[in-house]
Amino acid sequence: MRLDNIIRLSEFTTMKNELSPFSALQRSQDRQRLEQEEFDLLVIGGGATGCGIALDAAARGLKTALVEKGDFASGTSSKSTKLIHGGLRYLKQLDIGLVRETGTERAIVHRLAPHLVLPEKMLMPLIEGGTYGKWSTSFGLMVYDMLAQVEKEDRRKMLSKEEALELEPLLHAEGLKGGGYYAEYRTDDARLTIELIKTAAHFGALAINYCPAVEFIYEEEKVVGVMAKDYLADDRFAIRAKKVVSAAGPWVDRLRNKDGSLSGKRLHLTKGVHIVFPHEKFPLQQTTYFDAPDGRMIFAIPRGRVTYVGTTDTTYSGDLDRVVATTEDANYLINVVHHAFPKVKLEINDILSNWAGLRPLIHEDGKSPSELSRKDEIFVSPQGLISIAGGKLTGYRKMAQRIVDLVFKQLDRTVIPCTTNQIPLVRDPLANAQAVAVYIEELKSRVKGLDLVDYHAWYLATNYGRQAEIILDKMQAFDDADPEVALGRAEAWFGVHHEMVASAEDLLVRRTGRLYFEIKSIGLMREVVMQDLKNYLSWSEERFASENKRLDDLVYDATHYYEMEMT
Ligand SMILES: Cc1cc2nc3c(=O)[nH]c(=O)nc-3n(C[C@H](O)[C@H](O)[C@H](O)COP(=O)(O)OP(=O)(O)OC[C@H]3O[C@@H](n4cnc5c(N)ncnc54)[C@H](O)[C@@H]3O)c2cc1C
Repeated sequence: MRLDNIIRLSEFTTMKNELSPFSALQRSQDRQRLEQEEFDLLVIGGGATGCGIALDAAARGLKTALVEKGDFASGTSSKSTKLIHGGLRYLKQLDIGLVRETGTERAIVHRLAPHLVLPEKMLMPLIEGGTYGKWSTSFGLMVYDMLAQVEKEDRRKMLSKEEALELEPLLHAEGLKGGGYYAEYRTDDARLTIELIKTAAHFGALAINYCPAVEFIYEEEKVVGVMAKDYLADDRFAIRAKKVVSAAGPWVDRLRNKDGSLSGKRLHLTKGVHIVFPHEKFPLQQTTYFDAPDGRMIFAIPRGRVTYVGTTDTTYSGDLDRVVATTEDANYLINVVHHAFPKVKLEINDILSNWAGLRPLIHEDGKSPSELSRKDEIFVSPQGLISIAGGKLTGYRKMAQRIVDLVFKQLDRTVIPCTTNQIPLVRDPLANAQAVAVYIEELKSRVKGLDLVDYHAWYLATNYGRQAEIILDKMQAFDDADPEVALGRAEAWFGVHHEMVASAEDLLVRRTGRLYFEIKSIGLMREVVMQDLKNYLSWSEERFASENKRLDDLVYDATHYYEMEMT
């Protein structure tokens, strides 16, 4: 069984010319099969949790389907801090199990997708009167390394004030006592989710976007499927499955409510905002986890041409489908940067872009947002609906394993062991972080020949791994005056034919991250890329207009600050 699966993964190499199992041009056939066949498992929700479950289930031989109401990763899984981390502060909350699990998962996910989950050293400045003292930090980081089984050469180092300042000269020297320096990993949450669902599709899972589950179908009072609304075909259809799992993130309680099973523990949603500055305005050298004046801890992360800062953590009761950053969120983050890095002078107008997401946490009476546990929780309703919520992006694989084990038991089948720790998440993966660095160097000379710059080599390698070859080859087909436009067009072609891109938003927000990290490039390539998408996806004039309007709205929300939440 496993051998067979691994052999099928090696067939990834055929992707250049064949219709990939994850091509948007395949959608109507997928839709037909969803309607006609019966599945062992139907997953609702295409975030990291749902896509991880679909991969695990399909790899263990379950006939699996997944429906996503928007695009894959359009919920929380494109709005995180984009770290694969053990969560140092959970150690402070004595969530030892969570720290151990997420800590050890980091190295596994790095091995499965080395270009996408890269080691990143974290600096934690220690300041007079700060959240963490010198000895408690040293001890905490030692326990953290131990729980996460960090390799000897990567274990934490305690730094003097001078060493901390050498790593990050922008730090406030006054009151600085030194620093903790330890191992974490950075990622791109949306791309990780896309690679998960692409890999699930290669194992035979059928996944469709823009298709919310709108009602449950019951027989003898048990859930046996859902009615789905296909937004793109503008109709409804039934999908039948022996087991239904809801991995709907912040929307989990809505589905429990529809199932009539919303009782006992409930979600407590908290909003987290990140803001993005041009690197010249906030020239941070070193990823830093630092104290805000109110005692919360904030990340500042240099990435490509920008530095991003986050996150806020406030209880949320607004619109789940349009979560925006407020002026208060932006000012809070600017003030914490000024407090920790006084040489940096930022204004709200300097912000290039932002994103705001919701943490689907489990409510605990009397606890503030930051105190709530990030542990996941599974609910099984009397009707047989299995729901999973909470947890971390980092823990997606273990969450999936627990759910799929449970599904096997509920199906009364012998549990086939989980193999996802052996399944690479991309075709032809680069071997490790060193191989990624070598590949970036190789690409630098290649992109120079196409009139692109070193940044693009880094971007292509860390976004796509060796799939960058397909995009660079495709670029030659476009003779646009601006090479960046040709790159955008090649990415649009790749996104439609290999990554189920069904709208401009899918491409510019989640497949390429351009809305957050390269927002200016959208203006440059928009006209031509929109025309390409229109041709590939056979959009009507009406659809073309609504896609343009949607893109305007997205750019607006990423660059404006509201006085209050959307309701
Ligand atoms: C600000 C912030 C920072 C974070 N930082 C980190 C971090 O650095 N590292 C980390 O490990 N974790 C982090 N997390 C946590 C992590 O992002 C989440 O735990 C994870 O992304 C949740 O994934 P999910 O699949 O459960 O939910 P989601 O990604 O929200 O997916 C649920 C999906 O279900 C879909 N859906 C809902 N209803 C329906 C329906 N009726 N039919 C079909 N589909 C439906 C939604 O459209 C959505 O795409 C962060 C979270 C936030 C908010």
